[in-house]
Amino acid sequence: MPSSASLPFPMHRFFVPPNSIQGNTVTLSGSVVHQIRDVLRLSPGDMIVVLDDSGWEYRVRLVMVEQAKVVGQIEQKVLTRTEPRTKITLYQSLLKGDKFEWILQKGTELGVVEFVPVVSDRCVIGSVDDVSKVKFGRWQRITLEAAEQSRRARLPRLHLPMLFPQACERARRADLAVLPWEEEKTRTLRTMLATSDASPIQVRGKNLVIRKPFSISIIVGPEGGFTSREVDQARRYGIAPVTLGPRILRAETAALAAITIILYQLEDM
Ligand code: SAH
Repeated sequence: MPSSASLPFPMHRFFVPPNSIQGNTVTLSGSVVHQIRDVLRLSPGDMIVVLDDSGWEYRVRLVMVEQAKVVGQIEQKVLTRTEPRTKITLYQSLLKGDKFEWILQKGTELGVVEFVPVVSDRCVIGSVDDVSKVKFGRWQRITLEAAEQSRRARLPRLHLPMLFPQACERARRADLAVLPWEEEKTRTLRTMLATSDASPIQVRGKNLVIRKPFSISIIVGPEGGFTSREVDQARRYGIAPVTLGPRILRAETAALAAITIILYQLEDM
């Protein structure tokens, strides 16, 4: 049996606090040590990839694996190119069961950079304080593991839950803000993107097309949808309702469809 050290790819990936890296030495403590030592059973000589949320990844050879501490040496530093240029913030109304967690995981895989949990009128949960510390901790772990698994170089940022008006206030600061709404019949994501700053710039006299970095907010409702009062409120903030087609999608389908359409349309898939 070849040892895992002889398998060049895929290597196990770990996001670590930036201060774990000092010069060429990486010192790990906490739960990642248990993962490396007891779960993956890695030993000195084995390689891992360490990420410090800077966009760089470090290929690290383990030199010491102890019960409370793992030490490694950086052998290579590589700029990771998995982050989309399009910066999507998903404002997702809280959902029942594990649907919200599912969106966090899949949204992270697709490339969402920020998640904002939203409490809107028809949410089952009544207040932003109903999200416990335990639940929030689990959400953070889900985005971390999904980011490692999908080979992202940056961790999506997870915000504390906010109320719908606050969410609109924040969402409108992006280059474009949209609210998928099943009652909207004509305005599509495609037309919104085509008329926004996201459209590529043709460099004069050259066969060169440039896209500027582009940020976009998407606000998706809960199982029961948004109230017309909320849609009006969003409009007043300059947030455009958009259709995702004539069929009614579940909230989690709507969120992932919107993310995918945007990244595809902006050639970021
Ligand atoms: N309760 C509503 C559906 C809500 S679907 C009804 O049965 O009529 C949950 C969320 O998904 C909505 O708030 C909206 O943000 C999004 N959504 C679902 N289908 C959509 C569509 N066809 N177009 C745009 N948004 C949609």
